[in-house]
Amino acid sequence: MTTVSLKLLRVGACRHLECMAARGGRWSPVEFPALCGLIRHPTRGWMLYDTGYAEHFMAATATFPERLYRDALPVNLPAAEVLITQLAGFGLTPADIGTVIVSHYHGDHIAGLRDIPNARFIALRADTEHFAALAGKRWRATLGGHLPNLLPPDYFDRLDNADACLQHPLPDWLAPFVTGLDLLGDGSLLGVPLPGHSYGQLGLFIPDADGRPAFLVADACWSLPALREGRLPLALFINADRKGFVRTFDGLAGIARRETAVALLPSHCTAAWEEFNSDS
Ligand SMILES: [Zn+2]
Repeated sequence: MTTVSLKLLRVGACRHLECMAARGGRWSPVEFPALCGLIRHPTRGWMLYDTGYAEHFMAATATFPERLYRDALPVNLPAAEVLITQLAGFGLTPADIGTVIVSHYHGDHIAGLRDIPNARFIALRADTEHFAALAGKRWRATLGGHLPNLLPPDYFDRLDNADACLQHPLPDWLAPFVTGLDLLGDGSLLGVPLPGHSYGQLGLFIPDADGRPAFLVADACWSLPALREGRLPLALFINADRKGFVRTFDGLAGIARRETAVALLPSHCTAAWEEFNSDS
């Protein structure tokens, strides 16, 4: 099995009511970090899973209607959390990133794509098609958390559909998720469709991330403690398909309770981020 290294970077945060992420949470605002994965593959080099926030987000939400997105979810991006700054801490420039795996097209996951000049991008076709169809429909896009201006101008020339990758069985213990998409062809990074939150959300299962399995699950849940307790978010209405979201959430909740060895990594959970960093 190919061992890859995985770091989880916090690239900005937004504020929102805690209860939106988990029933039983407080009706007061808390910080939701925007996390992204920095992956090093032994032969394919450096990759990202999402980008978190970037200054481009501020530019893309400077005027109405896009401004509504920023007003609803106020963003804080301290200088030390800027992705380029954090990459420099690993001795990297954005040009060193060869691949960005895009979980889905919400602004807090793709805001930094314009800063990555050389990478190929990988996403699920259904999500890309939904996003592309929003071009010019500013209100509809904004209300769905989509900011088409965040994409680099040559994005579609550099995009590969994850769907075109060969299927690869997932370990039995990851049921009900049984099949992944072999993103690099060597079994080291397996894309896992996580239906519900968006039209084609792509999770990432890494069988060996520095010696342990990791499963980046994007926005399939927002709080790892709530997932373990089976507490669904209140904000089900923001998902593309509520029933699909609940099915995916229930599947992940089962894994969270049964399989303590796997690092389950939602994109916006401070507890998961701290747990992962204290273990690694
Ligand atoms: Zn999202």
